[in-house]
Amino acid sequence: HYNFCAGPAALPEAVLARAREEMLDYRGRGLSVMEMSHRSGDYVAIAEQAERDLRDLLAIPDNYRVLFTQGGATQQFAALPYNLLGAGGTANFVQTGIWGSKAIKEARHLFGDAAVAASSEANGHTAVPRPEDIVLSSDAAYLHYTANETIGGLEFDYIPGNDAGELRRPDGREVPLACDMSSSILSGPLDVSRFGVIYAGAQKNIGPAGLVVAIVRDDLLDQGRADMPSLFSYRALAEAGSMINTPATYSWYLAGLVFQWLKDDIGGLAAMSAINDRKAARLYAAIDASEFYSNPIAPRNRSRMNVPFVLADSRLEDAFLAESEEAGLLNLKGHRSVGGMRASLYNAVPEAAVEALVDFMADFEKRRG
Ligand code: PLP
Repeated sequence: HYNFCAGPAALPEAVLARAREEMLDYRGRGLSVMEMSHRSGDYVAIAEQAERDLRDLLAIPDNYRVLFTQGGATQQFAALPYNLLGAGGTANFVQTGIWGSKAIKEARHLFGDAAVAASSEANGHTAVPRPEDIVLSSDAAYLHYTANETIGGLEFDYIPGNDAGELRRPDGREVPLACDMSSSILSGPLDVSRFGVIYAGAQKNIGPAGLVVAIVRDDLLDQGRADMPSLFSYRALAEAGSMINTPATYSWYLAGLVFQWLKDDIGGLAAMSAINDRKAARLYAAIDASEFYSNPIAPRNRSRMNVPFVLADSRLEDAFLAESEEAGLLNLKGHRSVGGMRASLYNAVPEAAVEALVDFMADFEKRRG
């Protein structure tokens, strides 16, 4: 079977095998990682190793903290403005789809105001605004964007900022960049130094649900509002080693196994990126070569991780989904808010899965098209 779920998503087979080996009795300690105190020496070693491996993979500079927190990426829609609006100002957003819109809605709900610095609403979220179309408000405190819109299948092909890599508001003041990278983190190398805050729900490219990784530049640890819930505080999380309270211990451990798989089995993020390029290219080429399947996204903004597509005859959708599942191709149904199909090609989805999908699609078209 191959699992194309958008999240919680497939995990690498090698990771699942290792987790199974260690599940009941972790390295002869007589207990499972699930049963360990998060303050124990064994668990702290697991947690610290995971952070080191993530730092290695993404070449995270020393002036960034890595936080392992909870509440999903959705909680960060609230935690981020609480942490960055302590000195006033307005949260600015590039709106490219459903997830970015939810982040805007939460900022407005909490603080009454949020500025849309650019939006792809006019083109139906089929092409990301160009860098020069992003106009910050005069009181912008930070700019937030969604690197990859998981539902629409729309991915940024650049990091916002000018040629020098800076983001400036009209009065010339530099503004930090915050990014929801839930569905694209670890899909390839990244210049972390361009960002103030990166956050990602784990349940796509990192590990199981229940964990959020946040990468925060040091100077942004002290911009928080005094009235924020203490569990939201990047400063407090950083000082407590992400253990203000009991963290999502098992998800954190499994994330560590995924990081080791990326380093040792895949050979790092450049190698991962090359594989992801091949997978996405293969599927988009099959879609483009057919009159029967289509994807509406501008080629340069087509997501490598989430490939939505529709059939020329939508009445065949149910048959497509039933037959693909029978063929062992799982979870190809599009998000309930948009319908159609969606194949998520996260890191753990092997090239053979894409081959099997493309073969199935050609066969289905021949029989039913
Ligand atoms: N942001 C993006 C880009 C997502 O894909 C998702 C979930 O799929 C979320 C935010 C919300 O994540 P969570 O369910 O962890 O709150």
